[in-house]
Amino acid sequence: MKTINQPKEISQLSAVISSKCPRCRKGDMFVNSMYGFKAQKMHTNCPHCGLKFERELGYFYVAMFVSYALNVAQMIVAGILTYVITGNTESPWLYMATIFPIVLILAPFNFRYSRVLLLHYMTPGLNYVPAMGAEHKE
Ligand SMILES: [Zn+2]
Repeated sequence: MKTINQPKEISQLSAVISSKCPRCRKGDMFVNSMYGFKAQKMHTNCPHCGLKFERELGYFYVAMFVSYALNVAQMIVAGILTYVITGNTESPWLYMATIFPIVLILAPFNFRYSRVLLLHYMTPGLNYVPAMGAEHKE
């Protein structure tokens, strides 16, 4: 027998990109958008399934290491691109002038995605439960 109301499964990639809850992939992890005048705020609990995002006290300190890794990767890419485009091997200032703005521009991105990646890929015991993504039956 087929069930008609099977919840539609959401791919992990699209959940990561749109920074959705790792358990239901429906609820937003963040209150506001990535680039705006207000600082990014996270929901304490998933607005859809109620998952507590900060698994334990200070859990998001771990995200700083993820953020650091993202940062280093971006700086290397920016440096290589600067070299490929300009062919500069003389002036370190050119590299400073390209890498720093890129780091600044990407800071909100890294803040957000370090937490998203941490919860989606690096948290043991936290898995996608498609049933959690179903609409509430109240
Ligand atoms: Zn959720």
